[in-house]
Amino acid sequence: MRNGVVLITYADSFGGNLKSLRSNLDKYFRDCISGIHLLPFFPSSGDRGFSPVRYDEIDPAFGTWDDLAKLGSGYEIAADFMVNHISRQSMYFRDWFEKEDNSRYKELFLPVQKIFGNTAPTPEEISAIYRRQPGEPWLRIEFPSGKKEQVWCTFSEEQIDIDITSETGLELFEDTVARLGKAGIRMLRLDAVGYITKKRGTSCFMVEPEIWDILAGLKKIASAYNVELLPEMHEHYSIQLRMAGRGYHVYDFALPLLLLYAWYGRDFSPLKHWLSICPRKQFTTLDTHDGIGVVDAADLLSKEQTDFTVDKLYAQGSNVKRKYSSSEYQNLDIYQINCTYYSALGENDDAYIAARAIQFFAPGTPQIYYVGMLAGRNDLELVEKTRNGRDINRHNYSSVGIDAESGREVVKRLKKLMQFRMKCGAFNGTFSILPTEDKQKLCLQWADDSESAILDVDLSNCKCTITTTDSAGRKIYIP
Ligand code: BGC
Repeated sequence: MRNGVVLITYADSFGGNLKSLRSNLDKYFRDCISGIHLLPFFPSSGDRGFSPVRYDEIDPAFGTWDDLAKLGSGYEIAADFMVNHISRQSMYFRDWFEKEDNSRYKELFLPVQKIFGNTAPTPEEISAIYRRQPGEPWLRIEFPSGKKEQVWCTFSEEQIDIDITSETGLELFEDTVARLGKAGIRMLRLDAVGYITKKRGTSCFMVEPEIWDILAGLKKIASAYNVELLPEMHEHYSIQLRMAGRGYHVYDFALPLLLLYAWYGRDFSPLKHWLSICPRKQFTTLDTHDGIGVVDAADLLSKEQTDFTVDKLYAQGSNVKRKYSSSEYQNLDIYQINCTYYSALGENDDAYIAARAIQFFAPGTPQIYYVGMLAGRNDLELVEKTRNGRDINRHNYSSVGIDAESGREVVKRLKKLMQFRMKCGAFNGTFSILPTEDKQKLCLQWADDSESAILDVDLSNCKCTITTTDSAGRKIYIP
């Protein structure tokens, strides 16, 4: 994806379907974005698309392959492949369930013995496995024949883990890449990729060197169809650095918390350090469909700084865990904190625009989530309706709603800033952090031989200024 601004959205959250997504973008955000990460649009049985039933169809509620092609004719599209799991309702799982050892898809799944052989894992081995929820990461399945198996299942019970390295796993991957490549998709996000390495005696998460071998194999397949890979994983920043060191695109999931710390604590120091070492070939984020990551900023913020930021975030934002009971609600702060970025910044327009300006000046390609593009507030009404904590940041906008939100001053300011990021040639140059004595000040520069852009942010008065210089002279822009 070229160096513009990339939108992240569901197929049905920006007007209702793929057709209205295209028309709303053309109407309100022309010249603001170059690409779209379109969250999973295949038929799915849960987790809002992340439990894919099949990859050869688009969910008819969203539209058709033709609608996707039309969207792709205006914007570069990135799609997801759920490399760790597939729906329990998929024909792959159903076939295995019905035919057991006679199923063609038998090798696609991961009964616990496949990893541990005939010696069951010890409690120590189980507790060493990297899990994002308590309990064992597998599910007891009783087949119609009466046979019982523990089957690996990292996420919800609808999402059965697969062995992507099996013959059928690789076949499914290649078929999907071929189909998506033909549909014009040039980038594939490998969802939850960290969990694909299951190996006895390890954490089963990002196990090296296995992960590099698997990724290299997937990359080889994808490259043949001219599709690039974007491995997705929330973890310690050092893993992202290693991944980037091997030439992969990565996400900057540390930026959201580092920026919140800067704002709440009036201190840019940890952020400056990160900007000086972060990968250059990355997609920066402030918000996604998942929430605000904490583990991603570990060791970039001290334990005290992290606790301080999380407390403030709860005070400013949502604290869904305290508000709702986890027996009735799902996904309360699961993996990431449930809050929109605009609400996290106390719905302060100047702070929000300054945060986006910093994101746009950080190394990498900025991604902006659709709720963030409309400076959306926490949607507690939706959380209470669906009983899903993550829905706080998953408001579905109708075309009328988009029209109303686009008229807000903060959205107009953001649109102008996005247009600036899309147009200014200095971003093709070199990035530097200019020295500032004061921890409340940040000064970032992009420059090449003919032009430069400098962002100055001062937390003491929340002032944000962009100065551009080119052959026509010097201009000051207050976003
Ligand atoms: C996605 C989540 C999803 C999980 C399992 C993640 O990384 O972003 O939304 O729940 O993978 O597919």
